[in-house]
Amino acid sequence: MMTEYRPFVPPERTLMGPGPSDVSPQVLNAMCRSTVGHLDPEFIKLMDDTKRLLQYAFQTANPLTMPISAPGSAGMEACFVNLVEPGDKVIVCINGVFGQRMAENVVRCQATPILVEDPWGTQTDPDKVEQALKAHPDAKILAFVHAETSTGVRNDAKALCALARQYHCLTIMDAVTSLGGIEVDIDGWQVDAAYSGSQKCLSCVPGLSPVTFSQRAVELIQNRKTPVQSWFLDMNLIVGYWGQGGKRAYHHTAPVNSIYALYESLRILHAEGLAASWQRHHRCHQKLVNGLAAIGLDMAVDEHYRLPQLNSVLVPENINEAEIRQRLLNEFNLEIGAGLGKLAGRVWRIGLMGYGCSDKNVDYCLSSLSTVMN
Ligand SMILES: *Cc1c(COP(=O)(O)O)cnc(C)c1O
Repeated sequence: MMTEYRPFVPPERTLMGPGPSDVSPQVLNAMCRSTVGHLDPEFIKLMDDTKRLLQYAFQTANPLTMPISAPGSAGMEACFVNLVEPGDKVIVCINGVFGQRMAENVVRCQATPILVEDPWGTQTDPDKVEQALKAHPDAKILAFVHAETSTGVRNDAKALCALARQYHCLTIMDAVTSLGGIEVDIDGWQVDAAYSGSQKCLSCVPGLSPVTFSQRAVELIQNRKTPVQSWFLDMNLIVGYWGQGGKRAYHHTAPVNSIYALYESLRILHAEGLAASWQRHHRCHQKLVNGLAAIGLDMAVDEHYRLPQLNSVLVPENINEAEIRQRLLNEFNLEIGAGLGKLAGRVWRIGLMGYGCSDKNVDYCLSSLSTVMN
């Protein structure tokens, strides 16, 4: 018997989890235009414009700003494998899943992570970071997650970067969930390496990771004692393909249509303006919090460092949280996220990211939740 495979037609969901977020039809349309060669002069122009728009989004003049052709985790790995050499010491702030992954990256670079741990759901404490910097004057890098998607906490990026400068460390910042949703100021804060993801507040399809490296970081990469252990993620090689000026040489085949989509999503962000986008995230978040309170649901994170784009909501006693999520998906085509790691079973994570951050989605989420909970 021959199996007949039918075309895949996805259900029409509303994505309000920790990512991917809803992708606008404008971005999906851009993606389905004809594929061109990845060294086509028209595509190279698009690469240049995409880099300029990424510089805008990151608020940086760093020439080495581009999307890595792989998801956010690859952007994380690109930052660590390029900046960390065997034997280095890296201070890693951990208050959730993604900080833990950073520490794992350090170990795999054959370097030593110095952990600064804070409880999940609270902020990284800058005083503890300063103690670690004092205790380890030979540390080379301070690494932290700006927007910890696993808990909904915003870490104080500006303060952490200032400390790193003061103690002569470079910085690696995870901006996967922060970029486009809250202020990210690479040049103002003097961040040395940052990575993001296409599918959170940029509301593009998953699979791309914008990165940016400062001049200090570039010098460090160019003067490494050992070659970068990853061929694919070696920035010394990638610049030959994505770099400024000169002739573009083949390194790998860029995901051409995904770059169309990224460009379109960045164009939308640029047209709205960064400040207006942050404000929209803040406003919808307030509306969600008020609406949740009205149906008796409390937030898990202190309001002083809550992320607007990722809302951790406490699951009331004697409620089966998985069943609620299942019913939202089955009956309302609405996806929200479960708690991760230490918060599994204790919170829901409601994303308000990019295109999905709208009054319409807030209203839909509140009405669906209250229906299902009654
Ligand atoms: C989603 C996320 C990542 C990983 O991105 P992928 O695209 O899933 O690889 C890393 N860090 C943070 C903070 C994230 O939210």
